[in-house]
Amino acid sequence: MAMTKQIVFAIVLLVTLGVFAWTMARIFSYFRLTKPFPVGDWGKRIKLVLKVAFGQTKILRFPVIGLLHALVFWGFMVILFGSIEMVIDGLFRTERSLSFLGRFYNFMMTFGDIFALIIAIAIVVFIARRLFGHIKRFGGIEMKHISHYDANLALFIIFLLMISLLGMNTFYILQEPEHHKGVFPVSSYLVHHFFAGSNLTLYTIHFWHEFFWWTHILLIFLFANILPYSKHFHVFMSIPNVFLSRLEPLGYLYNMPEITKEVKLMMDPDAAFADPPEGEEEVGRFGVKDVEDITWKNYLDSLTCTECGRCTSVCPANITGKLLSPRKIIMNVRARMKEKGPGLVKDKNFDDNKALIADYISPEELWACTTCNACAQECPVNINHPSIIVDLRRYLVMEESAAPGELNTMFTNIENNGAPWQFSPEDRMLWAEGLEMNEV
Ligand code: SF4
Ligand code: SF4
Repeated sequence: MAMTKQIVFAIVLLVTLGVFAWTMARIFSYFRLTKPFPVGDWGKRIKLVLKVAFGQTKILRFPVIGLLHALVFWGFMVILFGSIEMVIDGLFRTERSLSFLGRFYNFMMTFGDIFALIIAIAIVVFIARRLFGHIKRFGGIEMKHISHYDANLALFIIFLLMISLLGMNTFYILQEPEHHKGVFPVSSYLVHHFFAGSNLTLYTIHFWHEFFWWTHILLIFLFANILPYSKHFHVFMSIPNVFLSRLEPLGYLYNMPEITKEVKLMMDPDAAFADPPEGEEEVGRFGVKDVEDITWKNYLDSLTCTECGRCTSVCPANITGKLLSPRKIIMNVRARMKEKGPGLVKDKNFDDNKALIADYISPEELWACTTCNACAQECPVNINHPSIIVDLRRYLVMEESAAPGELNTMFTNIENNGAPWQFSPEDRMLWAEGLEMNEV
């Protein structure tokens, strides 16, 4: 029987890893369609991960719900240890294989058991808030029915994961009352209060232990394969995304290499006739029109978005009734890549006569942004919305000449007068005429 379990487990694990690898390969093929983004300063990045990801500093700005979310995150970290042990046990017909770690093992089991209860309670609170709390940031034009369904399904699976973990631990203690390995405070409490004096047979206890063991591990496998298609992909992506955050101060705008190149050509016209360096033969598009123009970081941001709406809830444009929702911009990037990515992977010139701009994001949304960076400041996973908004605007201005009228006037003035105002540079000092200056 144990051998059968081992074989079945190995097959299930292989299928899980196979499906997961297939999904990841598809996602990575989309990354290959994107543009480069500079990354460096690893030391700073590690500090950022410790502070924002493991320290959950941004989440903890909301004292109650933030703490609950942080507890879920930390709990997952601890419970992951037990999940790895289950995979080892399943593959090698062992039981509690990591118990040789002694005190460390007891520590991890103790906190895993406690966190299972805390997470289950937190999830009930999260589901109740979503269903009955009427939280404004959970709504919005971008939040379709499927977004809510997706969020509630993932929360429900996490709840079942925690219940099955507690069930497994409880029946493990009943199975090995004297010799169980590890310390399980919550499950021991359940044993003493609900099963003390019960006359369950060994067979029944074993059955329920196996039932919860399989339920827990199958849910983990199922969850791992659902995540990449859901907003809960941030469970995997948030730490890498924080690690790869933009390190420049908020509001810093990158130069456009295409413009730098044009300026260099203007300063050295002979260079225009020289052979371009390898890889720079094609004239790049100015700004972002569609997903093939975004950087890999823009795409990573879109995969990491938790759809929490914290960005939109602080956006002054959104608050004052404008069409712009920074969350929608990020969600649109992900949706558009999902739509166009498969075609682009097959043929890099694939065109479906649609674009991120206009078909997903309207110019009205883009021009409503004040580039205040409140959204980027607030995002718990360090997504930077203004960088893509500015790049989409750059396309409108430089490729389509489609800036709002006020901006076009300003551009003309800069071109003609060297300043945003409509006065000639010769008239710049007219205001000082007739003024008497005191000699120093
Ligand atoms: S930078 Fe733009 S999108 Fe972000 S909060 Fe400010 S106005 Fe809204
Ligand atoms: S971009 Fe950030 S703040 Fe906005 S919904 Fe996504 S995760 Fe939340």
